[in-house]
Amino acid sequence: MSTPEASIDTSESEVRHAALLRQAPLEFARVVYGLSDRSNGRAGTMAAEDVARTVRQGTPVTRERAEQRARAYLPTAGQEHCPRCWVFNGIKSPLLFRETTEDRPESAVCKVCGAEYTTTLD
Ligand SMILES: [Zn+2]
Repeated sequence: MSTPEASIDTSESEVRHAALLRQAPLEFARVVYGLSDRSNGRAGTMAAEDVARTVRQGTPVTRERAEQRARAYLPTAGQEHCPRCWVFNGIKSPLLFRETTEDRPESAVCKVCGAEYTTTLD
């Protein structure tokens, strides 16, 4: 509100948050695919493996919980956390932001699960 710099920061984090918020329902969809793959004997798919890893870590994965978490996902400026870890596991893993380069737009990377998200909206 006060300085031009502050307003630039705000809009940057708003774009990041809007981009990350779009990922939460996609991660919920991965949970659904993963659970369905596992029950249909396709344990080797990426989504099934993500579910299996979460279960190995001691967290039961259910469609209901994942859906609740996907709805509750809310990134905080400066403390953005990984949509995948949150929806699958209920843990808040910090995201690291990679600067834009000539080859690629800015992205957010999770060191815990390895997820990478583009944080631009186009
Ligand atoms: Zn993660």
